[in-house]
Order: sequence, then structure tokens, then C-alpha cells
Amino acid sequence: MSEARDALVPAYARQPIEFVRGSGSTLWDVDGLEYLDLQTGLAVNSVGHAHPAVVKAITEQASQLIHVGNLFWTAPMAALAERLVSSSLGGRVHFANSGTEANEAAIKMARKAKRGGTIVSVHRGFHGRTYGSLSATPQEAKQAPFAPLVPGFVAVPPTVESLRSAIDADTAAVILEPIQGESGVYVLDDDVLRAAREACDEHGAALIFDEVQVGLGRTGRLWAYEHAGVVPDLITVAKALGGGLPIGAVVTNERFAEGFEPGDHGSTFAGGPVQAAAGLAVFDVVSDPDLLTRVRAKGDELRAALAELPGVASTRGRGFMLAAELDPSRTEPATDLVGRALREERLVLNATGPTTLRLLPALTITDAELDDALARLARLLDTK
Ligand SMILES: *Cc1c(COP(=O)(O)O)cnc(C)c1O
Repeated sequence: MSEARDALVPAYARQPIEFVRGSGSTLWDVDGLEYLDLQTGLAVNSVGHAHPAVVKAITEQASQLIHVGNLFWTAPMAALAERLVSSSLGGRVHFANSGTEANEAAIKMARKAKRGGTIVSVHRGFHGRTYGSLSATPQEAKQAPFAPLVPGFVAVPPTVESLRSAIDADTAAVILEPIQGESGVYVLDDDVLRAAREACDEHGAALIFDEVQVGLGRTGRLWAYEHAGVVPDLITVAKALGGGLPIGAVVTNERFAEGFEPGDHGSTFAGGPVQAAAGLAVFDVVSDPDLLTRVRAKGDELRAALAELPGVASTRGRGFMLAAELDPSRTEPATDLVGRALREERLVLNATGPTTLRLLPALTITDAELDDALARLARLLDTK
């Protein structure tokens, strides 16, 4: 076993656990131990593991047609595109395979529309690991080893003033996460989103909201932009969309509905029928108004309960995308705490930094499971 594992490039700090099965918010490892999942593969398994509708959609579609490529039509792709645009910006959809690829497509669309121009992103932003998205991800540790990056990217603090002064006639696009996920669940102010919208309108730039993590119900609204009422030109979406299968998408408004022509951009696997069939099943679950109402209410309760836990200094986030900032006097780094959570409490959690725990439960997690999660967290935080 360990020899087989040696065959992988060590690109991840993996936990020493091998999972073999999941159902809802429960995971089982190879030794049969049961875990409670508050990480959901980083906001991917939003409808839980092995959701019956997703499993059915995948197995039925796989038995019919797995791949035919983008030189033909398939029904699931068109149906999913229709659901995505009619629930949001009313334009069209261009499919990709991942979050970073959705952002690459959005950036290319914006540059093409402006015939060049700069891409403005903000500090603490995360948009992916391929060169365009990485160039919009102003984090020294992620960028520096891979320099030189793509030219024409600028990063500014996420404030009204700095966005207003950074966006000008030469700006092709501004790309923002309404809630910054990977850097630790920082909710951008409504004023900041509004200032970006106004400046983009003034200078004919595209406003791109990267909803790869926040979209599809995670915050208790189908789309995170709904909270502020600031409507972008392009939305990128990925993580939860395929129920675990790789799929991403750029959703456009009318202005960008013909943002690409044949030959401009493409991807062999993008929008394949199995991924899209899974996407349709996921979309049915996460667009249910009752589910969204519950995520808002339970998210508020969970955040309030987190704030009461021993050693939690503050909390951030919305719906089921929450961070607990640990008391800086705690000596145990959050990354160690995550390891101990797995070993001692069989709780699957994520740390975004040395003092920050991130909770991304399934939108379908039950009340009893949430109570159980809080009890496990309380025990965990109490001991050290
Ligand atoms: C995860 C993430 C990405 C990158 O998605 P991949 O599928 O890993 O390429 C981009 N933007 C945001 C906001 C993300 O959370």
C-alpha cells in the first residue's frame, strides 16, 4: 500500500486516512470507522455523499452515453445550461471542467470583449491554479515559484476606494469572490461589490463573480450575489455543480451571451453528459426554496453556537460557509487541531490557516448531525 502511495507527486498534505464509502454527511474509512463530514470535499458534496438522485442520474446516463464531445449536442448539457441561466443572469453558459477553468474562460471572454485590458482582482482572493487564474490570485506563496505569471493583472485591497482607483478605461474585468473562501471565509462588504459594479459600468469592464465555492446554495441563496443585490456580468461556478464529478461553467448575461465564437475556446470533456446529468440532479436539490431557507436559518444558529465554543475568538461567514477564528493564545495550530479532530472525534474539518477553522457542511446535513458536530467540536476545543 505505502509503495503504491509513493507513486504520487507529493502535491498535497494528505491526512493518513483512506476513505471507502460515504452517505449523506457520513464517511467510512478502510477500517470501517465512521466520520462526520463538515468539509464536503471543500464545498463539493453539497447534497451529501451518494445522494440517491445524483447516483441515479450518473448511472442512468453512464449506461447510455458517457462522452461524445463538443462537436455534437447532448440533452443534459443544454438542460443544465438552461437551468443555470434562467436562475441567474439570463444570458448563456460556457462549460468547463473545474473552477480554475471556468475562471480562465471568463477572463478570456472579458479580454476578448475589451480587445485586451487589465484584469483586476483583490487581496486574499483565490481563483485557481492555472496560469490565468493564478495570475488573479495575489498570494506570494502560490505565485512566486511559478513566475513569470500572465501580464496585465493587478491586485488591490478589497475596499471601495482602491477598486474605484484601480478600475479605468483599460480594465477588461474585475474578478471577485463575494465571500473569499480559500483565504478564510471573508465576506466582502456590499459597498465594495457595489463600487466594483459602478466602476465596471463606467468603464465598460466585465464584473466577474467567482461563485465556484459560494454558489449553488452554500450561503442560503442559490447565488451569493443575491445577498448584496449586485448583479455581475459573468458568474463562474464549479465545486458543487457535479455532485463530485468535475464540471465548471461560466454563466453570462445578455451582453456576453456570444462571448465566444467557434474556435475561440474549448475543452474536450467540458459539459459531458454524465457530469451534466449529475448537475441537473444537484441543481434540483440546491435550488429548492425550503432547503435554502433552512440553510440560512441553520447557518445563523451554527455560527452563533460556534461563537460560544471554548477558544473561539470570532466567527465569519454566511449560511453553511463559516469560519471560526481561534483565540491566538491557543498554542495548537488549526492544522494540528484538524488532525486531532479526525483521530479523536472522527470529525472531518478544514483549516484555512494557523488560526482558522472552516466549516462547509452538506446543505442536507440533519439537525441531529449539526448538534453532534457541535458536541464533538466542543470536546475538541476544550481539551487544549
Ligand atoms: C476552489 C476554487 C477555485 C478553483 O477550483 P478548481 O476546481 O480547484 O480549479 C476557484 N475559485 C474559488 C473561489 C474556489 O474556491
